[in-house]
Amino acid sequence: MSHSLEPIALCRSPYKEKFAIPRQPNLVPAAIGRLELQGDCNRAECLRGLEQFSHLWLIFSFHQNLAQGWKPMVRPPRLGGNARIGVFASRATFRPNGLGMSVVKLHRIGQQGKLHFVEIAGLDLLDGTPIYDIKPYIPYSDAVPEAAGGYASEAPTPMPMQILPQALAAMAAAEQAHPGFTQLAEQVLAQDPRPAYQANAEPDEAREYGVRLHDRDLRWQVRQGCNCVTDVVAL
Ligand code: SAM
Repeated sequence: MSHSLEPIALCRSPYKEKFAIPRQPNLVPAAIGRLELQGDCNRAECLRGLEQFSHLWLIFSFHQNLAQGWKPMVRPPRLGGNARIGVFASRATFRPNGLGMSVVKLHRIGQQGKLHFVEIAGLDLLDGTPIYDIKPYIPYSDAVPEAAGGYASEAPTPMPMQILPQALAAMAAAEQAHPGFTQLAEQVLAQDPRPAYQANAEPDEAREYGVRLHDRDLRWQVRQGCNCVTDVVAL
């Protein structure tokens, strides 16, 4: 049986590219996004009662990867990027139906002109991600304290961040334009966004990495296990 779906909302996110988006939600609580209701769903009634819940489930499409199809086995970064496991034993983005699910924190419900939106925190979604459903998180049944986490049992160890003197003014400017930017940068870099093969290799301290957060290009180098911010360029 096939079933066609239309997005009920679009996600507005500080993450403007896939690189450096955390691999799961709630690892970067400073990431604040917005779910903008679409079409027939853009009405206050659809959200009535949602404010009673602290967290939400989002069902969404890995829309930027759909064209690349899927494979039955994947190499999760948590296993170093080499070992292969079945797609259904992973949270990989290349999946048969291209669907993702994330638990996020509900910040507030609001309206701007005719647009109804839900502000969320801790998302792991790219800007523009189509949302197919929003459901309240129900702790008594959704939380399973005795659950086994397999190869992803432990949260990754966070990496520290240092802002190099040459980047202090640019970081302050980004903070002024986007309050919370410094914390966002720190939490994003703490996840070590480098590809697993680079993170596990002998570090190349001269190599500079960059990622777009909001309208800034955050640039850093990895020196002695620390993320050193070298610049924050306004785009
Ligand atoms: N929590 C979700 C899940 O388990 O289904 C997503 C996990 S997936 C490993 C998280 C990654 O999806 C992010 O690091 C980002 O690179 C990627 N991603 C997020 N939104 C996407 C989108 N719209 N299209 C393609 N990839 C996306």
